[in-house]
Amino acid sequence: MTVNIVSKNFKIENSHKIDIAIKNGRYKSLETLFSKNSDDIISEVEKSGLRGKGGGGAPAGPKWRLIPQDSNENYLVINADESEPGTFKDRQILEFDPHLLIEGIICSAYAIRANHSYIYIRGEYKFWAKRMNEAIEEAYAKGYLGKNIKESGFDLELVLHRGAGAYICGEKTALLESMEGKRGHPRLKPHQKECDWFYGKPTIVNNVETISTVPFIIENGYEVYTKMGTDKSPGCMLFGMSGNITNPGVYELPFGMKMTDVIEKLGGGIKNGKKLKAVIPGGVSCPILTANEVENAVLDYESMRGIGSALGTGGMIIIDEDANMVEVAKNIIEFYHHESCGQCTPCRQGTGWIDGILNNMLNSNCGDANDIDAINDICDIMNGKTVCVFAPAVSDIISSLINKFRSEFDEVLRGCECKI
Ligand code: SF4
Repeated sequence: MTVNIVSKNFKIENSHKIDIAIKNGRYKSLETLFSKNSDDIISEVEKSGLRGKGGGGAPAGPKWRLIPQDSNENYLVINADESEPGTFKDRQILEFDPHLLIEGIICSAYAIRANHSYIYIRGEYKFWAKRMNEAIEEAYAKGYLGKNIKESGFDLELVLHRGAGAYICGEKTALLESMEGKRGHPRLKPHQKECDWFYGKPTIVNNVETISTVPFIIENGYEVYTKMGTDKSPGCMLFGMSGNITNPGVYELPFGMKMTDVIEKLGGGIKNGKKLKAVIPGGVSCPILTANEVENAVLDYESMRGIGSALGTGGMIIIDEDANMVEVAKNIIEFYHHESCGQCTPCRQGTGWIDGILNNMLNSNCGDANDIDAINDICDIMNGKTVCVFAPAVSDIISSLINKFRSEFDEVLRGCECKI
């Protein structure tokens, strides 16, 4: 069921050390890489259908093509600001195979003609930042980073930058603002597709797992990668399972698997023999699925969209029959209320209002039926009227919880003694 593309070396002892990494195939793709030009590499990645694995799922190759042809100062930024609740896959790469990420950075920087690359790592990932920095030092010492890498004529400087712990800095434009030394506020997006900009220079931002998949494609060819997965979602991804599951963890799977098979066969089923109630499929930004919907859920981008949710980061949060869905909603909104960057009024105020209403219902025994209408109205105001997709994501998950588990909200309200 599982595949070994980026997870191949995870279980090898000391796989993070460069000598062990090289012995187990790391940096091998560079031979093929430096025998081709940058355009060939982008074509190979385009044909592989590789998509961004940080949540958005945008195709990587076409994104790299957005770098202007006449630009000779480009940047590659790696988004290691993994903060989505339920998502803990990139840190497996940072911990067990940091040289795979460095190899992927060399391949990708070569493709977009970047001689400088940055890894922006989540502030709380202190251990992983240290591990990554040690790997970067080893790579410089062995000539895989710096001037004239392995006598290819290609130069690459790589710097690790630690964030300060804001969830919103996982949004790529907020990340770039933060790297420029400013507040981590998302930028307004252009109407037409263009690359990103770091200090006014063309820049590509990709997630850790996306970049770590590139060496496999370069070394083995796009045909081997597209043999896995489905026509529209080729390849594979690291999927996580957490919550009420017997075997929580990270599993590398081809796209197109049935969610129930993954939960039962790899996850060992619901913990303590309980029944499944719901799954949040790809981090808390994705609308929740009921147990009935999970029966038909297939783990690829198109199928998940088809049932009204999203693949997101692939971090599945499994919820059993004992969970109170009003408490689930409160838990999620508390997080979002805390993490809103505050730039847009609907998001800054809306997350706080919903948090307040749910807090009154659950902790002060206070509320009435109008509260549900109020939350739905706030969700409507938050959707599509803000600078970034944070507020629409909040709106989607909260609306889906209310629509699919309305009776549980009504029950809490019926027990409220103080009517507002
Ligand atoms: Fe900030 Fe929220 Fe606006 Fe995004 S939607 S820019 S997080 S206030």
